[in-house]
Amino acid sequence: MNAPTSQAVLAPTVKLLIGGKFVESKTTQWRDVVNPATQEVLARVPFATPEEIDAAVASAQEAFKTWKKTAIGARARIFLKYQQLIRENMAELAAILTAEQGKTLPDAEGDVFRGLEVVEHAASIGNLQLGELANNVAGGVDTYTLLQPLGVCAGITPFNFPAMIPLWMFPMAIATGNTFVLKPSEQDPMVTMRLVELALEAGIPPGVLNVIHGGEAAVNAICDHKDIKAISFVGSTKVGTHVYNRASLNGKRVQCMMGAKNHAIVLPDANKEQTLNALAGAAFGAAGQRCMALSVVVLVGEAQKWIPELVEKAKTLKVSAGTEKGTDVGPVVSCAAKDRVQGLIERGIADGATLELDGRNPNVPGYEKGNFVGPTVFSGVKPGMAIYDQEIFGPVLCLSAAADIDEAIEFINSNPNGNGTAIFTQSGAAARKFQEEIDVGQVGINVPIPVPVPLFSFSGSRASKLGDLGPYGKQVVLFYTQTKTVTARWFDDSTISHGVNTTISL
Ligand code: NAD
Repeated sequence: MNAPTSQAVLAPTVKLLIGGKFVESKTTQWRDVVNPATQEVLARVPFATPEEIDAAVASAQEAFKTWKKTAIGARARIFLKYQQLIRENMAELAAILTAEQGKTLPDAEGDVFRGLEVVEHAASIGNLQLGELANNVAGGVDTYTLLQPLGVCAGITPFNFPAMIPLWMFPMAIATGNTFVLKPSEQDPMVTMRLVELALEAGIPPGVLNVIHGGEAAVNAICDHKDIKAISFVGSTKVGTHVYNRASLNGKRVQCMMGAKNHAIVLPDANKEQTLNALAGAAFGAAGQRCMALSVVVLVGEAQKWIPELVEKAKTLKVSAGTEKGTDVGPVVSCAAKDRVQGLIERGIADGATLELDGRNPNVPGYEKGNFVGPTVFSGVKPGMAIYDQEIFGPVLCLSAAADIDEAIEFINSNPNGNGTAIFTQSGAAARKFQEEIDVGQVGINVPIPVPVPLFSFSGSRASKLGDLGPYGKQVVLFYTQTKTVTARWFDDSTISHGVNTTISL
């Protein structure tokens, strides 16, 4: 929380959504939502009171009584309408997102679009929420399963994809018959709220979707609330681990997608131009603030000679506000984030890595107050250096070296994180070896950011994830439903048995 500035007093307030109504919080604790390119205060976001959080959960609990019985088709048609509304409002959504988060307008559209794809998938959820049936498991006995919604589910989202990640969560939870309480990032809640308004316009009934705002206290209240059955979390490893432990102890189902350190291997037989473009795009796009950003590249053998050309590519990227045409790298989300990233660059130098390109304090005409860090490249990066051991979450690329593919795979498998990885090569055999041996949940072959489309599920692994089932796609249908197994025998006169049977049998 920060003390309100004079700008902030004039700024609009972000509302809570409780029982289908957008309401002003009665809290005394507020935080400014700030444009990271200009420091303009765009809005003030409340830290909801315990009573408001209880009211949101109670409204979801009440709405569940009827929503769980609403026909699959009726639920699905809301998401058909919703996807249309998101498309129609794409430019406005992207503009809000860029203003509060900083990424470029085309990238903001991509953020919304990747969420829109999940909404489209939610509209056909009936195909995935099917039970199974085995006929005659014993004489006259059938067994079948029902995939029933859990009740009130909650979502806690990070700042870096304020459109996509909320859309990973509430459409799938609601389409499968649950009701939802969303807690967006307090750093950039405005595009999330516009998406929530459109969801209501599409026909989501009062109480089925609720929104509370806040930070640590709101998250802890969600973890502890007796009426919340399941929690989806996306954010840092530290907070995700806390959420997983606290909510699991309270008997909830929890999935946490967390921090990362994504490595790519470049073999010398890779197509050089295509590979260098892909590396620069994946390392510096969204100012390195993607959980699937490429932060370490392991150059194998002769590929180590490509460093100067990679640095040249990085130098060509335009650093400016996300609203400026041709911008490649926007600001990082906050002044604190900028200080942290620049501090890590200093530690990289102190730890003995070679600074090939220094992006600190770039000159950005017209946006002198913005939180800009330009593309930064280190070579000679090793485990034990802070820039390797920590997730930088800024436009900083670390280069390491390996003699061969085996050494490179071993290097990646020794890192605790398992969000995403990629290999660049023209060898099918090398790519196949990589896909078999690499211990990372999402693998790209000549694809730098292998985020699966919603026909699949996001499948980070190891320290990047807690819980078994990933967000969206097939896996989340299992996450948001309870399988009930029914074993049924119907008697007619000819099958009625007589006498008591005390043995275990059907
Ligand atoms: P964060 O962990 O700081 O915040 C995530 C959520 O937790 C927010 O809603 C925030 O309000 C809440 N929160 C923050 N501090 C808390 C605390 N002490 N106690 C309880 N709740 C708290 O994450 P962020 O900075 O918003 O997002 C960046 C992080 O998210 C990066 O680590 C990134 O890798 C990760 N991320 C992961 C994925 C993935 O799918 N694996 C996707 C996007 C982002």
